[in-house]
Amino acid sequence: MDRDGVIRRANNAMRQLAGGDAPPLVGQHLGTALFAEPAGVAEIVAAARAGRRTGGIVRRSAKGRILRVSASPLANPGPEAAAVIVVEDVTEQKALEGQLLQSEKLASVGTMVSGVAHELNNPLTSIAGLSEFLLEQGKTDDASREHLRVINDQAERASRIVRNLLSFARKSPAELVPLDLADVAQRTVQLMGYELRRNGITVNTALGDSLPPVMGNRDQLQQVMLNLLTNASYAVSACPEGDARHIDVSVALVGDKVVLRVTDSGVGIKAEAMAQIFDPFFTTKPPGEGTGLGLFLSFGIADSHGGSLSAESSGRGATFTLALPAARGAFPAAATPQAAARHAAGRPRRILVVDDDPAVRRLVSVLFAHDGHTVDQAADGHDGLRQALAGHYDLVIGDRRAAVGAEPFLTALLRARPAWRPRIILAATERASGSAGAGATETDVKLLRKPFNLRDLRTAASDVWEASD
Ligand code: ADP
Repeated sequence: MDRDGVIRRANNAMRQLAGGDAPPLVGQHLGTALFAEPAGVAEIVAAARAGRRTGGIVRRSAKGRILRVSASPLANPGPEAAAVIVVEDVTEQKALEGQLLQSEKLASVGTMVSGVAHELNNPLTSIAGLSEFLLEQGKTDDASREHLRVINDQAERASRIVRNLLSFARKSPAELVPLDLADVAQRTVQLMGYELRRNGITVNTALGDSLPPVMGNRDQLQQVMLNLLTNASYAVSACPEGDARHIDVSVALVGDKVVLRVTDSGVGIKAEAMAQIFDPFFTTKPPGEGTGLGLFLSFGIADSHGGSLSAESSGRGATFTLALPAARGAFPAAATPQAAARHAAGRPRRILVVDDDPAVRRLVSVLFAHDGHTVDQAADGHDGLRQALAGHYDLVIGDRRAAVGAEPFLTALLRARPAWRPRIILAATERASGSAGAGATETDVKLLRKPFNLRDLRTAASDVWEASD
């Protein structure tokens, strides 16, 4: 460069950084050649000439690459002094940094969320369960029934939020298991429901039932869905007041692929932008609002699942399509609630519930006593073990945190009564990342996820009796 920052000579590497066949480099300002404007580069070059060190600048080039430009002074500072200018392409490095940051954020949010969820689980379980029980009994007058229904709906809703947060925060290993893409879509829509409604956006879902599973990682697919919904919501909110505001989510089987579509009535994607939306750091959002990583990461996730992610837009609105190969085999058939209720109400059984929360013990007792069974309660693992060994139980429901001394209640019980394994239900909040791994004794034991509702409880009990009768 000459001393005004105008390029005098350039090699091939420089030509590529500036975008290949662009206007000849010689004669252009370095800043213009790289970033379409001299400002920024001109300043750090001037600073280096004056003998000052600067941090350099990192910017997206006119060609969509992320470039770092740094300038260092040579000897003899002054207006004529020489400076060394280094231009590096740091696109991939920045993409990696972004991903790391994302996963670090996710991990710390996960730890916090799982702590809060643990605390909310028991109160929610008993609010939802006892209100449902009262509704089922039908002894209340109409007005009270309505209130009870609202209490029950809201507690169920809060439980769903807790569950969603937990499964979102849980960092499972990136192994692929058969899962229901429609369920992932549904849960994410629920997770964002409040945000969407607040922005006056309606979401229509068309989730096919009896779809085949896909081999997937729930967290990752949920992240894709969350990105697509967030983008759709942003695009819709950017439309003028009074325009239609809706997002359509569908999951269907197309050939041998399970296809998820998210269509919005938003501002659409311009043809020029279309070629770049999956690039790292491409964003049209103002600084602070977009990272330009959402679609880039989503694309990578689709790819690692052997599937594809694509976009279409014809001026108004946009459609994103995630297609994943359908896996062979079906989900295990779930017992219908009616069958579960019938079974749970079958011949009288003896049940032991071990949980330190009186509200949870109460819920279990009230429900099963009403169905004609006998329920004994223990507030800790010690008492639980004593009662279990003194009597005969058809079902033991134990909280995962219950312990006998330093040992989990479940381990102690199974050592004394190994044959009882099929009659045990372990009630637990899903683990988030960071907590200890499941003990070996927990495998093959029926797990009941907290918060549970009456149906979950009955279904679990009926499964146990079906298996052990
Ligand atoms: P970010 O949302 O942080 O900008 P993304 O990678 O998720 O990053 O999206 C990149 C860009 O793609 C957005 O800035 C936007 O210009 C465009 N885009 C994504 N989804 C939509 C959509 N549904 N409608 C219009 N534009 C979209």
